[in-house]
Amino acid sequence: MDIVERPDFYLSQAVTGHGAFGEYLHKIGKRTTLKCPCGADVQTPEHVFRYCQRYECNRPANWGEGLAAAEIRQYLIDAMKVLWNAEKEEERTGINRVRRASHRPSRRLRL
Ligand SMILES: [Zn+2]
Repeated sequence: MDIVERPDFYLSQAVTGHGAFGEYLHKIGKRTTLKCPCGADVQTPEHVFRYCQRYECNRPANWGEGLAAAEIRQYLIDAMKVLWNAEKEEERTGINRVRRASHRPSRRLRL
């Protein structure tokens, strides 16, 4: 099974923020912008899960139970899958991607 299909793969990213979020991808040097495609200045987990109109489908009305609620866990998993699909598309098209030189000069001293 592909690791990307495991629910805990998505949940852990939703909880830690170490996933396909603009803020995180920018921090680790994979994306040129912090912005969310909706126009928000920074795409954080809080923005995605609480406020972004792109991820409002099936958004829980009550977050009181947190991860104890199956509805909330499922919403986070589904939203992370949408984020990952957008990330894969950006990777494919090169949009917002940090471009790296295909050939790096050797640091070894040649004698
Ligand atoms: Zn947004």
